[in-house]
Amino acid sequence: MRKVLLGIACILGTSVGTFAQSPKEKGLQSINQDKAEAIVEFLADDELLGREAGQPGSRIVARYLASELKEAGIAPLPGTMAYYQPFEACAVERQQKGRWQVHPDSLARLKQGTHRSLKLNNILGWIPGERTDEYVIIGAHFDHIGYDPTLAGDQIYNGADDNASGVSAALQIARAFAASGKKPLRNVIFAFWDGEEKGLLGSKYFVQTCPFVKQIKGYLNFDMIGRNNNPDRPRHVVYFYTESHPAFGQWLKDDIKEYGLKLEPDYRAWDRPIGGSDNGSFALQEIPIIWYHTDGHPDYHQPGDHAERINWEKLTDITRAAFLNMWNLANEKTY
Ligand SMILES: [Zn+2]
Repeated sequence: MRKVLLGIACILGTSVGTFAQSPKEKGLQSINQDKAEAIVEFLADDELLGREAGQPGSRIVARYLASELKEAGIAPLPGTMAYYQPFEACAVERQQKGRWQVHPDSLARLKQGTHRSLKLNNILGWIPGERTDEYVIIGAHFDHIGYDPTLAGDQIYNGADDNASGVSAALQIARAFAASGKKPLRNVIFAFWDGEEKGLLGSKYFVQTCPFVKQIKGYLNFDMIGRNNNPDRPRHVVYFYTESHPAFGQWLKDDIKEYGLKLEPDYRAWDRPIGGSDNGSFALQEIPIIWYHTDGHPDYHQPGDHAERINWEKLTDITRAAFLNMWNLANEKTY
């Protein structure tokens, strides 16, 4: 059907952009490789010094994401301060090597002794839906692991794949929802998590304090979606999803076919997808999840995780696929 419409548009000499497109196609067509490159190259730039949570580089990225959401016409999530959801993480002093905590009870306990404290911020935007009591969320963490001035040679962990790639996808999808011009059936939240590398801190804090956590119908996560695990399989992507929702697998199969996406997913239905990344914070609340991940590579958590090593075609097609998943999460009556 889409091809036929395009054909007619060409015959009539009508510009495709002005031809009656569905809202979904309008959104889809706003996603492109140049935007992916622009976002990843900014986040992974040496000037941001590896975006360690709480450090100036990651704070600049938070500021950038809030500005981008505003420019796209996406409202701040109610309860945030102009997109910012501030929170504190505490840990014991560093010789004791304790984990960072965000739960108020843990903070109160830690504050009785010598402790470390970090001031962090999730960035949260939303598009309100018709069903005001149902939510879906798409998210990616924007922090990485910083730099090490004692390293000989390259000292900056740029984190282009981990997770500038995922941030670029979530941001493009936010813009695509805005570009579609359609009010979704459910409220759609666009989330950028802080402190993932220190223990999923941002997503943990969000679910712990979210007053509507029981009304979240699905969460889609990105973490590392830009590299080739095996150079012979450049279309490889792992597609994790909650096993009790087989529709999530079928959606991707159908969309790859319908839109000619150059992806060869490894479909991994998972009974309890609590590991790996921020999807875990949601899965622990029994919220069904989808998680895109292009697997490990030798530059994982190394200074060599550079933007020029990203497979841009794949990153862009994963972004398109996930937009279509998100469209279904937001608009399908049931799943
Ligand atoms: Zn990551």
